[in-house]
Amino acid sequence: MPDFIQEAEALFAYTRALRRDFHMHPELGFQEVRTAGIVAKELNQLGLEVSTGIAETGVVAMIEGGKPGPVVLCRFDMDALPITEETGKDYASTNPGVMHACGHDGHTAIGLTVAHLLHQHREDLAGTVKLVFQPAEEGLGGAERMVKEGVLEGPRPDYSLSLHLWNEKPYGLIGVTPGPAMAAAESFEITITGKGAHGASPHQGLDPILAAAQVITALQSIVSRNVRPLEAAVVSVTAIEGGTTHNVIPPDVKMKGTIRSYLPEVRELVHRRFGEIVKGVSASMGCEAEYVIFDITPAVVNDAGMAAHVQGVVQRLLPADGLETDYRTMGAEDMAYMMDDIPGCYFFVGSANDEQGLNYGHHHPKFDFDERALPKAAALMAAAAADLLK
Ligand SMILES: [Zn+2]
Ligand SMILES: [Zn+2]
Repeated sequence: MPDFIQEAEALFAYTRALRRDFHMHPELGFQEVRTAGIVAKELNQLGLEVSTGIAETGVVAMIEGGKPGPVVLCRFDMDALPITEETGKDYASTNPGVMHACGHDGHTAIGLTVAHLLHQHREDLAGTVKLVFQPAEEGLGGAERMVKEGVLEGPRPDYSLSLHLWNEKPYGLIGVTPGPAMAAAESFEITITGKGAHGASPHQGLDPILAAAQVITALQSIVSRNVRPLEAAVVSVTAIEGGTTHNVIPPDVKMKGTIRSYLPEVRELVHRRFGEIVKGVSASMGCEAEYVIFDITPAVVNDAGMAAHVQGVVQRLLPADGLETDYRTMGAEDMAYMMDDIPGCYFFVGSANDEQGLNYGHHHPKFDFDERALPKAAALMAAAAADLLK
């Protein structure tokens, strides 16, 4: 087996230059035209078969091994966020109001590095690597759209690998967890309708603000009173809008928020109680409530065998690094759509560095990561793929 760590280190200047270039030129979901253009150009230069324009800006490239065998899909996301960057770095965003605040600039650079690493050893691979560069991961449905446009066919992958640079963990820690690793996510919108009145004559109206307050409080009983204490779920009301001034009870209140869970049965329970509380509590206050729950993504569930495989690769390549085998987050990832019925492993590569101030959370305007995690992540992904095609 080649020394992928050493080979990725040798490509570090290339990887970092790409990452910083993507960072300076961030693009929102489905608008990654420049990014996808560079990705396609780099892959073409390796002589790979490249398809572009999948789900608007998605790019897929095939590395055919020297021998026949299974197909491994390696996926990387490319989109940035509508955030104004505050890092002050010399490679900060030049696109006002748009920022790579989740590390997808790093993921795209890692993907191109993985392409180089595996291309160098293609004669030794028994099978095919399908490199997928995905648009619009940040809640816009890029993965689902790529699946609809056939990314899981021609050829159909037998395995999938994907990763996230992860600032919730320090550089030097790798998280590879069998089973659920990231949560199923839904968003919701609620409208509570009452009857407007003078603020001094509440008895003449039906106050939707008071009803909303009761609903918000009661929704927090779902996780604390209905979900089994050892299972995980989140219900967060994150936006509320109602009324415009101090002496008018408004006719309605609108709220938004998110629901997270791992297990389908917990998800169903949360949804059922959510509806009962929103409708029932509002009715008890004389108001009517309507709500909609929108699917964002199912849970990311790692195949046990694939997780064990990647754990083995981490132990072999990075014996001095910490390996966490039970790390989970209630964050969500639309990679779940590509892992639905294909055994896969989604793993986390620790990228925070307290001494260098590279420890802001994902989606923070000062988010940045320890770039030494780039070659590590690329080497792990390449080795995990190569190992599946021995
Ligand atoms: Zn993100
Ligand atoms: Zn992300």
